[in-house]
Amino acid sequence: MSNQPATFAVVEHYELRQSPRRKTMALRVEHQRLVVLAPQHIRQREIQCFIHQHSDWIKRQVRLQQSREQAIMQKQFKHGGEFTFLGQPYTLNVISGSKHAHVMLQDQHILMHLPQDDSASVKVSLFAWYRQQAQQYFTQQTHEMAAITDKNCRQIRIGDFKRQWGSCSRQGIIRYHWPLIQACQSVVDYVIAHEVSHLTYMNHSADFWQLVKRLCPDYQVQRRWLKDQGHLLRFLLG
Ligand SMILES: [Zn+2]
Repeated sequence: MSNQPATFAVVEHYELRQSPRRKTMALRVEHQRLVVLAPQHIRQREIQCFIHQHSDWIKRQVRLQQSREQAIMQKQFKHGGEFTFLGQPYTLNVISGSKHAHVMLQDQHILMHLPQDDSASVKVSLFAWYRQQAQQYFTQQTHEMAAITDKNCRQIRIGDFKRQWGSCSRQGIIRYHWPLIQACQSVVDYVIAHEVSHLTYMNHSADFWQLVKRLCPDYQVQRRWLKDQGHLLRFLLG
């Protein structure tokens, strides 16, 4: 047990998710908030006891998430700022004074030739570059995966979506949320496999997941990562 206020705040305000299928209790920290997964019939006292037994673990998890999120909030849209592209880290190399904006990858850098190097200009050009890269990568990978399943994707669009990473319409149009391009290739490819599988199955049936698995054998790991860490990719739009 701990007397530190941070832990108590967490312990007192938890979200309880009960399920009849669950046999044991489990804890999760999401967005620095404690979530208790519990069987349907469980006493309040048992939950409190379980939380206290794991108070050190909870504290550690909250701290870890805090520092991770702080690092992300402090993103610097200027020379020396650090960003990821397909999971790889890159440092911004901003050179001002050019007539037009031009952005490209060069070794470990995102090289930006810009008319001005204020943070608003850097942000606009960086986002435009991300979107462009996303359009290229998603288009190519989607067509390749669709070919494996003998399907055709009519159109691939890149956009801003609040809730989803991707979607697939009955007309065969697949859309992707561009900040996803910052994530590891394996995570990105899972989302592509997911949407491409919707060209065959317009649902989340067992057959659908079977096909996802064929295209992306470790899809469960990537799916979990998106659930736990995906919100960290959305900061760019904030
Ligand atoms: Zn789906």
